[in-house]
Parts: sequence; structure tokens; C-alpha cells
Amino acid sequence: MALKTPKEYVESIKRRRPMEIWYRGEKITDPLNHPALKPSLATIMRIYELSHSEKFRDLLTIKSHLTGEICNFYTVPLTKREDAIQKTRLARSLAEILGCCTFRCTGSEAISGLYPTTYEMDQALGTDYHERFKKWLLHVQKEDLTVTAALTDPKGDRKLKPHEQSDPDRYLRIIEKRNDGIVIRGAKVNQTGILLAHEVVILPTVTLPEEGKAYAVACALPVDTPGLKYVLGRWPVDLRVGHDETEMIDVGKKYADHQAMLIVDDVFVPNERIFMCEEWQFTPKLMEYFTAVHRLTAGACKSGGLSLLLGATKLATDSINVSKMSHVRSKMAEMGMSAETLYSLSLSAGFEGFQHESGAWIPNSLLAHTSKFLATILPFNAIRYARELMSGIGETAPSAKDLKNSEIGALIDKYLAPAKEGMTTEDRLRALRLIENLTRGTNWTAMALHGGGNTEAARLMAFRHMNLGKLAKLAEIACGIEEDESKAEELISERMGKIDYGPSIFKK
Ligand SMILES: Cc1cc2nc3c(=O)[nH]c(=O)nc-3n(C[C@H](O)[C@H](O)[C@H](O)COP(=O)(O)OP(=O)(O)OC[C@H]3O[C@@H](n4cnc5c(N)ncnc54)[C@H](O)[C@@H]3O)c2cc1C
Repeated sequence: MALKTPKEYVESIKRRRPMEIWYRGEKITDPLNHPALKPSLATIMRIYELSHSEKFRDLLTIKSHLTGEICNFYTVPLTKREDAIQKTRLARSLAEILGCCTFRCTGSEAISGLYPTTYEMDQALGTDYHERFKKWLLHVQKEDLTVTAALTDPKGDRKLKPHEQSDPDRYLRIIEKRNDGIVIRGAKVNQTGILLAHEVVILPTVTLPEEGKAYAVACALPVDTPGLKYVLGRWPVDLRVGHDETEMIDVGKKYADHQAMLIVDDVFVPNERIFMCEEWQFTPKLMEYFTAVHRLTAGACKSGGLSLLLGATKLATDSINVSKMSHVRSKMAEMGMSAETLYSLSLSAGFEGFQHESGAWIPNSLLAHTSKFLATILPFNAIRYARELMSGIGETAPSAKDLKNSEIGALIDKYLAPAKEGMTTEDRLRALRLIENLTRGTNWTAMALHGGGNTEAARLMAFRHMNLGKLAKLAEIACGIEEDESKAEELISERMGKIDYGPSIFKK
């Protein structure tokens, strides 16, 4: 089992079959050398590099519970409380370095969701999904593959279920079952990191009734599978990217992620890569297990992004000598506390999880959804502060090329020179661009709001885990409507250390 070096990763991507990738009306033939993907490539290479770093490898690697060998953390399911805590710390730390998505998180969350679900399916139905899944997982671990997760269907009319849509392909579905596999058709939108990955795990995005069983499909595909088509999306500063080093200053940082639309144009999936095929009754469990891990991460990585934003805000306020003003300190304190709130929710979701009989560790859903919910809110308060404090020039600053121009550069430098000794105008511009990048330049804010589900989805799922009946009972005991006080002890003791606040699917 090997941990790939960045060079080995690049070699492995070069070995992929040619993929059909569209961008601004043209095909990208060489994703490794296309300017629009340059910051994304830097991100993924940095992650492979960090798994070899003496200071970082304890966070980025783990002993596989399947083989006992060291492998990348993103290739294993969570199997114990310590793993969940490691996931939080890893997500936060990487966000502080990269200021964007790692691409590998979602794949690991699909792995964490499928591991217990396939186990339960086999126990209940006598299928062999779990063994298939473990076999595929061993391949991922051995090759240290980057796996992304594709859930979000185009969805069409949100009021209708998948099988009720006017076009049945608005959600990805099975269109043919064969002895050796299935053929699937549909699309998945907003796919993070997929163009530089090795594998994509396809999962349903909603729970399904029996009439919608054709949509109950989970499988893994190499991203270069024939019939997969990609359309790379845009971000506000994408035309600044990659032209030359000076232009890159205007991007704000060298790391970014990308999102692409994935079109699955009648693609064959062999049996050994299918982990759910029409078992609609297991879609609620799959969603619960996946989101418990995915939404734990949502809080953790936004806390890292917030820390980075706070650091950039400190630089920007230093450059105009306001960083010690009392209202500025209060605002920065609030930004810092927002980061710690998200970090704590993520940590506690992992800590308060439970051991599933498959061996998986399932984070506490209520806390994980709460972490995601606040991740859609707290970054936006911090963004408001950062944009206020960096001053208007952060929104309208001239480009680095103008600053470096022999004719106009000296005048820009004269008028925009920072008030802080030792800081150059270029340093100031870089700090402002970093704030711009995080707040409106790339997809960090979109990730906070939508990635892993938006505010309402988190609120709804959190609410499902609040046992109001039980809380009302506790209130009745507290105010004397119910006289038998021992019932309170009974109710509270049931809750200790497990998810019993929740839908009946978690109850044995
Ligand atoms: C930067 C970024 C990265 C992403 N990365 C990935 C990825 O790697 N993989 C992946 O699979 N997905 C990814 N996503 C997708 C993300 O998970 C979805 O955007 C998110 O789940 C919201 O779904 P949606 O975009 O369809 O919006 P919708 O769910 O349609 O939400 C739009 C609005 O409509 C409301 N609404 C929708 N349905 C109903 C209803 N039935 N009743 C009442 N109100 C309703 C919502 O509450 C919301 O206010 C990413 C998204 C972004 C922006």
C-alpha cells in the first residue's frame, strides 16, 4: 500500500483515458495543463504532498481497519470516535492552508455512508454489496485514489418526486438491468474537484419511495468511463487565472477548487461497482449516514476558512492602521468565535456519535446538521465584517499588472502604499485579494451556503432529530403536570452518549 507523491498523482492522472470536458464552449483536452484548472491542480497536489510531511502526516494518514496498513485518511470510513475527531481537525487545518475545498472529503464521506448501509442491506436482504464495496475500497486505499461524491441531481420541479418529473432523467436513474451490470442515465450538478479525481461515487440525493426505485442507485465509476461528459463551471475571477504569475496575484491565493456538471449519458456500470440497485427502502439510512459525516465536515472546514479570513482581515486592517481600534477588535473577536463555534460543533458531532455494528463510527446527526446549519450563517456575518474592514479599495483595487506597470505603477504605489511600516503595496494588494477570493471571488461562500445542503435542508434534518415528545414530557415533569419524577431519569438516561434523539431508523 502506498501513499502517492504529488508526482505519482500527476502520472496517474496522465494515464486516464481522454475525457470529454467542456469549458466556455470549447473542449479541454489536457486538464493538467489548462489555466482554468491550475489552482485546483495546486490544491490536490498539495494534499498529496502533505501526506508525506512530517508535521502533517499524522492528520492525513491512518491505519486501514481492513489491512492494518497506513493509507490516506480520505480512503477510509470512520470506524471510531478518534477518527471523527481527526476528520474535524484535518478539515479545519487544510482549510486554513488552502482556503478552499479539498475535493477528497466528499468521497471519504460517501465511503463512510456506504460502509454501514451496505452492511445493513446484506444483513437484511442477503445481498453481497458490503463485500463488493470493501473490495473496491481496498483498490482505492492501495492506489491512494482521489474519490469525489456525486449526489446533486438537476431536480427540475422541486415539488415533484424523481419519478413524477416531466422528464424522468432529471434525477439519475437505472435505465437497464443486465446480468453483468446496469446502465444509468442522468446528470449531477456542482461536482467539486471531479475533473482531477480518479473515481466518482454516485449516490441518490433524496430518499425514495418504492415507485422511485429506479433512482435508488449507488455505484463507483472511474471518472474517465466512456459516456461521462463534463462541463466546467465559471467563478467570478476565472479569467484572472493562470495567464502569468502577476495575474495570479489578483486571484488572491494559489489554491482553489472547481465545480463541473456531470452528464451520465447511458453509462454501463459492472456488478462489482454497484452498491445499491433499487433498494429504495435503504435510501433514508444512506442519506442519514452520509450527511452525518458530510455535515460534521461542513462546520470544520468553514471554521478553517473563517480563521484564514480573520488572518487576512488582520493584515488588511494593519495596512490602514485600524487593527487596534476597539470596534475592529470586537468584530475580529466575533469572527474568531464564529470559527470556534463551528469547530466545536463539528468536534462534538464526532465525539457524541455511536458505534455501528458494521464497525463504522456514525457521528451524532443532530449536532452534524446543526454544524452545517450554522456553517450557512456564521461565515456571512464574518464576510460582512471582513469586507467592511478592508475598506472600499478591497472591492475596486487596480490589478497587479497595473501596479507593476512601468508607466502607471509608481503612482498607484504612491497613493495605495500601506500605513504599516515594512508592508509593501503589493503585500496590501495580496491581503485584499485574499479577502476578495474568500468572500466573492471563488466558491468558498457558495460552499458555505449550499455545499452539503443549504440552510433549510440542515434545519429540516436537524428538526427530525429533535424528539419534541420527549422534551414535552420532561417539561411536564419539571412543571408538575407529570408527578412521577423517576420518568425524567429514565428519559435522560436513554439519551446518554447515543443518537436516540432522532428518527425511528436509529432505534433498534
Ligand atoms: C460550491 C458548491 C460545491 C458543491 N459540491 C458538490 C459536490 O461535490 N457534490 C454534490 O453532489 N453536490 C455538490 N454541491 C451541491 C449542493 O449539495 C447543492 O447545491 C445543495 O444540496 C442544494 O441543492 P440545490 O442546489 O438543488 O438547491 P435547492 O435544493 O433547489 O434549493 C434552492 C431553494 O429552494 C428551496 N427548496 C428546494 N426544494 C424545496 C421543497 N421541496 N420545498 C420547499 N423548498 C424547497 C430550498 O430550501 C432553497 O431555498 C455543491 C454546491 C456548491 C454551490
